[in-house]
Amino acid sequence: MLNLILFGPPGAGKGTHSDKLVKKYKLVHISTGDIFRNEIGNKTELGKRAKAFMDKGELVPDEVVLDMLLSVIDRNKDAKGFVFDGFPRTIVQAEKFDEMLDKRKMPVSLVVSLDVNDNELITRLVKRGIESGRTDDTEEVIGQRLNVYNNQTKPLLDYYTGKKLLHTVYGIGVIDEIFEKICSVIDSNV
Ligand code: AMP
Repeated sequence: MLNLILFGPPGAGKGTHSDKLVKKYKLVHISTGDIFRNEIGNKTELGKRAKAFMDKGELVPDEVVLDMLLSVIDRNKDAKGFVFDGFPRTIVQAEKFDEMLDKRKMPVSLVVSLDVNDNELITRLVKRGIESGRTDDTEEVIGQRLNVYNNQTKPLLDYYTGKKLLHTVYGIGVIDEIFEKICSVIDSNV
């Protein structure tokens, strides 16, 4: 079973590369952000709760994310593996996630971190906001999301380095070339 965490700041290309990884390795894609946007679209209670945080560029509380994630994993018992995109985003999430996966005997296989500088991230996110209408891709909210990333999510790089699971891939350039690098990291580490 391949359990891959695709890690990186907002705009690093996690969604793009997750889609390609899902096709190549036949994995189930779990994007917590996509799940929340879907819930918002369906006007569910969970969606309403998440939207209040997302619109401000803040993180949805850990317990909400973890409950949701658990139910998605358990609904996909036959999966060959998963690509986790946008999760975990806090140390608490990562620790609870480890416990959750231990119980199910499906540990994290590796973490691939996409390395992209802030200027490039801002340019990409502003462009995506214009093209997609995503309400949190506005300059003001983008700034807050990058702060949240630096303060709450980036410490996970040390967490996974400590577990010898972290691999970094430079995330600027031709998409297919970046994807090749991600695949060679996966193929030589699982
Ligand atoms: P994303 O599509 O991954 O950029 O996520 C969009 C927004 O959804 C984030 O800015 C958060 O508000 C929320 N979100 C997504 N994943 C998580 C997570 N793992 N923990 C907390 N909030 C999350």
